[in-house]
Amino acid sequence: MKSVPLAACYQCFVESSCKLSLRADKLAAASFFGSQSVNSFRSGTSVSLDLLASELGMSTSPHPSIGQVALVGAGPGDPGLLTVRGLACLRAADAVLYDYLVNPALLDETSADCQQICLGKHGTTRLEEIAHAESGDIVAERPQRLWSQTEINAKLVELALAGKRVVRLKGGDPMIFGRLAEECAALAERKIPFEIVPGITAALAAPAYAGVFVTQRENASAVALITGHEQEAKESTALDYAALAAFPGTLVFYMGVTRVREWSAALLTAGKSSQTPVVVVRRCAWPDQTQFTTTLDRVVAELTERRLRPPILCIVGEVAAAKEQAAWFTQRPLFGRTILITRPAAQAAALVERLQELGAHCMIQPTIEITPPHDWSHVDRMLTRLADFSWLIFSSANGVRYFMERLMQTGRDARAFGPARIGAIGPATAEALGAWHLRADLVPAEYRAESLADAIIDDANGRLQGQKCLLLRASRGREVLAEMLSAAGAEVEQITVYESRDLAQADPEIAAALAAGRVDWITVTSSAIARSMANLFGQQLKGIKLVSLSPITSATLTELGFTHAAEAVEYTMAGLVAAILSAEQQAVKS
Ligand code: SAH
Repeated sequence: MKSVPLAACYQCFVESSCKLSLRADKLAAASFFGSQSVNSFRSGTSVSLDLLASELGMSTSPHPSIGQVALVGAGPGDPGLLTVRGLACLRAADAVLYDYLVNPALLDETSADCQQICLGKHGTTRLEEIAHAESGDIVAERPQRLWSQTEINAKLVELALAGKRVVRLKGGDPMIFGRLAEECAALAERKIPFEIVPGITAALAAPAYAGVFVTQRENASAVALITGHEQEAKESTALDYAALAAFPGTLVFYMGVTRVREWSAALLTAGKSSQTPVVVVRRCAWPDQTQFTTTLDRVVAELTERRLRPPILCIVGEVAAAKEQAAWFTQRPLFGRTILITRPAAQAAALVERLQELGAHCMIQPTIEITPPHDWSHVDRMLTRLADFSWLIFSSANGVRYFMERLMQTGRDARAFGPARIGAIGPATAEALGAWHLRADLVPAEYRAESLADAIIDDANGRLQGQKCLLLRASRGREVLAEMLSAAGAEVEQITVYESRDLAQADPEIAAALAAGRVDWITVTSSAIARSMANLFGQQLKGIKLVSLSPITSATLTELGFTHAAEAVEYTMAGLVAAILSAEQQAVKS
């Protein structure tokens, strides 16, 4: 157990007179949910007083059984816009109540047993289409069947009183047009402790993601955040349009769609120039963000014509002129492209991250499943003999992981390798070895089994005869490595260190996206994946561009009746991304 010296209580901390040893894993869980924190003067680690108190068997709360609520701003769209504090709250939560504007990817950060409650969502509920008095075709802001504010308040209170750590996750910043005051009042009334974690509001994210410099020294010394959708019960507007028209800066309208006719007309009547530039940004910071520039007198017509659905934000003012904009987000090379990743989920993360940075929208549909062998006995017997081999040869990062984990689980470590040398098929496998502090003695120049066999044969310089080689491999795969090494005189043995199986059924949402032609590219990173993908989707794959990891994978695709649109030059994930980029650039040129 790793212990870190800490101040035991605030007083002792101040006086530096008392210390307490606390488990390091508890430290990781410390400082959640707004309890006062103290800093360890030795380790610099922040620890909550509540946690320290519980270590000492004391309580700091007058109602120890009551839970607490964190009202957290999720930011808009991109999950990366959540604050570090917000993330800590999410990870520690027992229950999360989230809005339709929140990116569901954030829910992946919650623990497996965290209760997730969606309070209404565009897309899954039919949008309320309010026929506008004249145009009749501007889409309304609110989805049907949202939870009412009263229901939300009641649920927050109920969960907190049941002792839960609750996160109320709101799009953007929770304070901005989020009815936060009502939720806080409900909590305060029941003396439920709460914390407010700010987020990036849409009015600040949209200009950043649309490249609109929302303040400018020459013509925008202030920014006003305005709701285009005031409380329905109000008889007259609380907004002073004369003041807004004369405002010396940028006006940002939230919820601007339904009432665009009213607010734009009111600004014009109050004397704002009809030629005032307006940038309309829809779904800022999402991979399908759209934006266009118009003028104040045209904004109603444009929104009507384009029939855009919420969420939409309108930025009104000189800063919105098209020539001023730096639309970096939508100009990224893969922006607007949807790419389906077919690797096992655990291995997809790095590829997804890289593609997302380039602007792509990624969907994941693993086509094969990787599991430990159903019986370890063969591997376990081999673990005692590793030092007898001249070569231990790994042909995938998965192989390294499963094998090394088993080695450690059985009470051994890397010394079991003895003098055996280590071969790796490519850099990802070598990197996986590196994670166990093992250095591959040999990685071929070309990352394929034939090259690995050639490299080992070359290295032996004619003396492979009788040398023992152990191949640590998947339950299925090519035999070429074993065949080539045996042909060169090596004594080859093989063990299955993980099993690879085809997935029986595809996610219906992914199948629907393919059928609807919403997928531009599919990554195909092995022959096994190619075969399983063909089984899962068959003819639905026609017309979708396939990017293949290597000539071997491409040959399997051809065998299955598909043509690849791009092939990696270097057989790595970086090579795969480069192949997509280069094909996209070619398409733009031609
Ligand atoms: N608390 C939120 C605002 C809630 S009101 C915040 O701070 O951002 C809901 C309105 O916010 C939407 O109608 C829309 O006008 C705006 N909005 C939220 N997310 C948005 C997004 N990703 N793109 C454009 N507008 C967005």
